[in-house]
Amino acid sequence: MSEVITRVKKLKNFINGDWVESKTTQYEDVYNPATNEIIAQVPISTKEEVDYAVEVAAKAFKEWRNVPVQKRARVLFNFQQLLQNNKKELARIITLENGKNLTEALGEVGRGIENVEFATGAPTLMMGDSLTTIATDVEITNYRYPIGVVGGITPFNFPMMVPCWMFPMAIAVGNTFVLKPSERTPMLAEKLAELLEEAGLPKGVFNMVHGAHDVVNGLLDHPEVKAISFVGSQPVGEYVYKRGSANLKRVQALTGAKNHSIVLQDADLEHATTNVIASAFGSAGERCMACSVVAVEDDIADAFLQRLIEKTKEVQIGNGLDEGVFLGPVIREQNKQRTLEYIQKGINEGAKLVCDGRQSVPEEGYFVGPTIFDEVTTDMSIWKDEIFAPVLSIIRVKNLKEAVEITNKSEFANGACIYTSNASSIRYFRENIDAGMLGVNLGVPAPMAFFPFSGWKSSFYGTLHANGKDSVDFYTRKKVVTANYKAPTFE
Ligand code: NAD
Repeated sequence: MSEVITRVKKLKNFINGDWVESKTTQYEDVYNPATNEIIAQVPISTKEEVDYAVEVAAKAFKEWRNVPVQKRARVLFNFQQLLQNNKKELARIITLENGKNLTEALGEVGRGIENVEFATGAPTLMMGDSLTTIATDVEITNYRYPIGVVGGITPFNFPMMVPCWMFPMAIAVGNTFVLKPSERTPMLAEKLAELLEEAGLPKGVFNMVHGAHDVVNGLLDHPEVKAISFVGSQPVGEYVYKRGSANLKRVQALTGAKNHSIVLQDADLEHATTNVIASAFGSAGERCMACSVVAVEDDIADAFLQRLIEKTKEVQIGNGLDEGVFLGPVIREQNKQRTLEYIQKGINEGAKLVCDGRQSVPEEGYFVGPTIFDEVTTDMSIWKDEIFAPVLSIIRVKNLKEAVEITNKSEFANGACIYTSNASSIRYFRENIDAGMLGVNLGVPAPMAFFPFSGWKSSFYGTLHANGKDSVDFYTRKKVVTANYKAPTFE
């Protein structure tokens, strides 16, 4: 059985290397979503507190930007080692505050570590370019510089990986950072701050202010914040992008999703079924790369669905800390209620409920079982909206062309997958689908740290994506020097 937490901790902000109690009078309870227990209280910090953190970061930037890049990278090497040493504890915190099972939590920790590893390459990644002779005795060199204070605003569903998309690269290239973690999963970020300090990061380079709207607005409005990295829902991302851009900051906002998978008749059905289940119901469907819709070719739809339902019945639901559990809870009671409303809407709109996740779930905690609707159409809200829960829609299609047309009607375009053994179909899919991250015969095509996380349409606002070389460009600015060195004259 999982451990019962009895002591409720009041979380603090981390500013200038100190753990500072917030001056706010407003605290929000942090729950273990699997048990409904309160495990911490998070301060809803004030604008003054985020202003102070930004000023501290702006001051620290003056020195940190001049620290040789290989020394900055060395701090990240230390940090990487500490993360490795603390893997299990980090995963346990994630499961406790987010609900995903321990195996998935360990996977998330691994993904975060990969971002740190990528950022240790800053000495190479920051190199500019040059040309010796662009005119007689004239050369040109492109140098990269950090931009200043970066603000990071993160969602509840990846409390470790998503902050690690941001601050390791931002600080490796010489910026300083203010993180506002999700108020629903704020505990993991506390551990990250502790380990950064232990790794030898100077005071003020990484700061963390807990809270909600006021802290976000504080970051968006402060003139010393030069760039904002946001990951979260579509409406908030659009708001953050517009307000940050209006204040003349660089903004990258990675937002919501409704990812489609296409299953063709020449697919390995066993493999496709296993992958669709892992993608749709893993992390309780609370992944921006979760499969929410399957467009399946008519000829194999019945066989596919039958396997899908059979395997779905085997999914073990419960506390993610317990051995063998696959499907944990959704994050809060209101997310559970919202999901139940969507299930009812699906029924009312005429979809056929073939797996009912409202039944046989634990009473404590915010559980929704795996839910599958067949005969879904594109006018239904269960097809249009991001539900962010273990609810899967099946659409039967004539062929690949129709499947791609349906997928492309979605306002979102984060990821899309195809299951087939035909190379021409894969090529057609790649060339015609609207989505930035594609999977071929796999369910969660989340790119590794060295490639960009590249959603399209309403799944992303901005130009440069998170991760990969995009992140180096996003967190640096360039100085291009054109210099005339008149050739010396020799006797
Ligand atoms: P959310 O938008 O509710 O919250 C994200 C952050 O914004 C949090 O730090 C929160 O405090 C802040 N916030 C929320 N409402 C705000 C408001 N009105 N004004 C200012 N700030 C506000 O998102 P969430 O529920 O925590 O996370 C789930 C969402 O994130 C899903 O839509 C998911 O698809 C998306 N997501 C996207 C990606 C991606 O790469 N595209 C990755 C992970 C999650």
